[in-house]
Amino acid sequence: MEQRTEFQTQTEAEAIYQLESAIGCPHCSTMLETVHVVRLLRTRVNFTSSLPRRGYVCACPECRKVIPAVVG
Ligand SMILES: [Zn+2]
Repeated sequence: MEQRTEFQTQTEAEAIYQLESAIGCPHCSTMLETVHVVRLLRTRVNFTSSLPRRGYVCACPECRKVIPAVVG
């Protein structure tokens, strides 16, 4: 199911994840209870590349900077 809908704004998160306990953002020091997850869509790649088709980044909802988190 491939849907090619454009995001309303560039900063809109695809998903919001709740943290089990609050953590401090490493960038803006806000105590976070949720993180935003934004999908990476591959738009150009070498034919021989073994990189995955898509990935995710987690971002602080306050400052929008990437924070280290893994969505598995
Ligand atoms: Zn932040």
